[in-house]
Amino acid sequence: RAKKNLGQNFLVDLNAVQGIAEAAGIQEGDQVIEIGPGIGSLTEQLLLYGGKVFAYEVDDSLPEILETELPQRIDGEPLSSRFKLVLKDVLKANFAEDLAGFFDLTKPVKVVANLPYYITTPIIFSLLESGLNFTSLTLMMQKEVADRLAAGPGNKDYGPLTIAVQTRMAVDLALNVGHASFMPQPKVDSAVVVLTPLKTPVDVGDPEKFNRLVKLCFAQRRKTLSNNLKTLVPDKAERESLLTNLKLDPRVRPEQLAISDYIALNQALNA
Ligand code: SAM
Repeated sequence: RAKKNLGQNFLVDLNAVQGIAEAAGIQEGDQVIEIGPGIGSLTEQLLLYGGKVFAYEVDDSLPEILETELPQRIDGEPLSSRFKLVLKDVLKANFAEDLAGFFDLTKPVKVVANLPYYITTPIIFSLLESGLNFTSLTLMMQKEVADRLAAGPGNKDYGPLTIAVQTRMAVDLALNVGHASFMPQPKVDSAVVVLTPLKTPVDVGDPEKFNRLVKLCFAQRRKTLSNNLKTLVPDKAERESLLTNLKLDPRVRPEQLAISDYIALNQALNA
């Protein structure tokens, strides 16, 4: 029985699970971290495509299925050298410690998951902060969040999350997955996103200050940029000259600015 509070929507569509393994480009010998293997539909494909899989799962009723049925499903192959399951909340993972001895951490890893939706953004940032050397994160998430990650300026989904992610990773919307591919069916549609770390992350200056500024600019999305900056630069004339010096129309709305505009604005404010 699926547990709603753990975000359990199991994939029951072979095309979808194969689509995820293919979007991740899983090949023989790839080191793959899977988050939330559930009853193992995706795990099975990751193994069949040749991956070596380390999985984090919180539901303690699942290891039995994963450790007894999964090996049988993969044609009786002894899986112990290619599959390891830990019962742990992935948000509390210490990746380097957990993976040592199973993965060769001098080589890169891939992360693949049909995520429990409530952890989507925290896990992306926790993986980014982990210092792990990963080639890609291939993640199934709510379509709405996928659209926010992939949005460009001028789009209604473009915002602080877009900017925080796109300054560090390339975002590729790989496939849409309708709710009928899951059991039980979620109320929302889903999409698979491939995030690839940029070789050189965008230099945003002090990241905390930068993120704070971006959030402030989007605090009231429907208001003008100038209006959102009121608390930071109370004097209207001063604010408008700051923006016009940056070749920004003070009446522009926050979603119309490119990432480079936010970087320039942050620099000007901290000069
Ligand atoms: N991979 C399976 C599939 O595609 O059918 C299951 C995906 S289901 C959307 C999410 C899975 O993540 C569930 O098995 C759930 O128990 C597990 N999970 C939920 N919260 C978790 C957490 N904090 N850490 C690790 N696993 C978690």
